Amino acid sequence: MPIHRAHRWKEQGSKNLFVKRFKKLSQKNLEKILKVRALIADLIHGWDDRSPRGMDDWVRGFRLLSPPPIITVSEWADAYRHISTEFAAEPGKWHTSKFEPMREVMDSCSPNSRYRRVVLVKPTQSGGSEACVLNVIGYTIDINPRSMLVVFPTLDSCESFSKERLEPMIMVTPAIADKVVEIGKMRRGTFASTVKKKKYPGGFLNMVGANSTTGLSSRPVPIVIVDEVDLCIQNASRQGNPVKLALSRTTTFFDRKEILLSSPSNEEGESGIIPFWEDGTQARLERMCPNFNCAHFQILDFDRMDLDSGTLCCEKCGSYFPQWQWHRSEFRWHHHLIEHPTTASYWMTGLDSPWLDWKVDLCEDYQNCKRMADIGDDGLLRVFVNSKLAKQYKRKGKRVDIDLYHDRREVYGCHPGCEVPEGVILITAGVDVQDSFIAYDVTGWGRGRESWGIETGEFQGDPRVPDSEVWKQLDQFVYNRIWRYADGSYIRTRLVFIDSQGHCTDDVYKYCKLRHPRVFAIKGVGGQGQPIIIGGKARRRPKVVEGIWLIKLGVDTLKDEFHSRLSIEKPGPGYCHWPMRENGMPCCGYTLEYFEEIVSEQRELTYNKSGFAEYRWTKNKMDPNEALDCRNYARAALEYLKVRLEQMPRDVITFLPNDIEQVEIGDKTIVVQKSEIKTKTGRTGRRYGSGTIGGLDVSETGESGREETRVKTRYGAGGTSF
Ligand SMILES: [Zn+2]
Repeated sequence: MPIHRAHRWKEQGSKNLFVKRFKKLSQKNLEKILKVRALIADLIHGWDDRSPRGMDDWVRGFRLLSPPPIITVSEWADAYRHISTEFAAEPGKWHTSKFEPMREVMDSCSPNSRYRRVVLVKPTQSGGSEACVLNVIGYTIDINPRSMLVVFPTLDSCESFSKERLEPMIMVTPAIADKVVEIGKMRRGTFASTVKKKKYPGGFLNMVGANSTTGLSSRPVPIVIVDEVDLCIQNASRQGNPVKLALSRTTTFFDRKEILLSSPSNEEGESGIIPFWEDGTQARLERMCPNFNCAHFQILDFDRMDLDSGTLCCEKCGSYFPQWQWHRSEFRWHHHLIEHPTTASYWMTGLDSPWLDWKVDLCEDYQNCKRMADIGDDGLLRVFVNSKLAKQYKRKGKRVDIDLYHDRREVYGCHPGCEVPEGVILITAGVDVQDSFIAYDVTGWGRGRESWGIETGEFQGDPRVPDSEVWKQLDQFVYNRIWRYADGSYIRTRLVFIDSQGHCTDDVYKYCKLRHPRVFAIKGVGGQGQPIIIGGKARRRPKVVEGIWLIKLGVDTLKDEFHSRLSIEKPGPGYCHWPMRENGMPCCGYTLEYFEEIVSEQRELTYNKSGFAEYRWTKNKMDPNEALDCRNYARAALEYLKVRLEQMPRDVITFLPNDIEQVEIGDKTIVVQKSEIKTKTGRTGRRYGSGTIGGLDVSETGESGREETRVKTRYGAGGTSF
């Protein structure tokens, strides 16, 4: 396999002198060259180099007239680049030798490199954007004046880059300071610079945010730099995939350069940068084992780190060495496809960065993040893996590998006289209405949102038939049902969410309207980044019911959360419990089919027609998934209540209604309140929207307004947000 040897720079001094002489010369001819260039660029503009042969001759002629500069980006940086004191850890002159591996990457960005595209997968603090964004900008302004487009994830990040990094660099680097037109100053007929646009002789630098609709689609430029490709894709506007849009703007230039940098912050199979890296030379940074007898080249992998001492084990000889020894030993970029014609792609990890201390920045940070992940919050761990290790994070919930049926069921609450396990504080339910049946799921919630499946099931029958039996059954088994703890106390479902979309909206509205505020109709809204409760609105459906209250839920967010909860392996905050009989048989509806349904969907990255990347939950069309939906609606109901489970006592009924009856179902007896639904006339949805869900006293269902519980006012956050 072809191998790039480490590049040792011994004659730095004499090289710098040469570079300076070259520049003096080229400076004199620069204006002349620019004029010729502009002339010829006009002629060949609009032509791609895959064009007919005649055009290739033009291109060759153009190259002869203005050959690419012979100094490289790293040479320029060593000779001219200064780092400002304002925002940098190490101000002063730039020395590529501080992080030698970056030399090859920077030189691939030079116009005399044969690569047209450079891809760098990197941790966040690696000097990557200093080397491949700021140095390339400085070099281009100074040596190779062409126009540039730099894409950042958002307009804000673009602005802060300009103010905090670019402008200080221009100020302290004399070679370019007098070339860039200052903000607000006109120079010989040129336009003034702005924060996001810099003018210099021979071109302009345009900085745009991936979330902005303008900027990405204006006129073509020869040099495009995309910083944080993965975040750009996440922040894409509706216009389309911002990286593709930006890259499409270089296609008309034969001397185009595309530089893509990112830490791999999207998930496996969903990353924007990884496919670009794979479509290139696929270089990984390898370092030689400091053990002289071993001298084995290897990628520094955090998995081999001894967390206590902060030392790394050699994968061949097994000896441990500290960071300074690893960093002092030989390195090489190991290219897998060195013959790739257009793209040089590099991947380095956080262990290679000289600015990250293994012990403090990696080991200690990792242990903190791991502690959070163990109790169910893997957000920090994910950021750590992405931005410090430059590795992709595999979210466990993406595809559920665990066998929930065999591993997560336990014996509780299925013996006569007890349906609710000790830890449950509050119960909510979710209902999904289909053409021929209604599915429901009743879930109990404890501290830290630990959850217990209480009961799930289906009622067969057409919900659209007037006075259909299915609605009565829903009343009996969910709405009027009274559940029992082992100590004899009772609890009832605090809030029921019913999906109103798709099948029989009007019937759902009618049912919910009569049972406000313990039952609400909901509507699922797809899309990433939505809150669980998006909002609520009173609907006017004159023919059906006035003022029906409809709540919108971020269903993809619910699915994300549920799947990451499933990856929690120890009972405690966030853990999900399900019941089984002592003999291992299913009970309360939690059958093998139920567990197949709740893991039936997968999270995948898809592209819509305009190339816009979307994360979607997808499932096989034939697979039922009511179980997952119901479960998520129950979770959303908990969110809507805004209760603080940590401070709240059990939501028990202090006075049992008089009209309860015991119903025998199969081998168990359930307790149900007999009374018909008491509707309160004159109420509109408005009341619940006014921010007083504290008004959620369930008196209307209890006999004569008896106070069952008033948890909301004392333990709730006191109101909803809409
Ligand atoms: Zn070794």
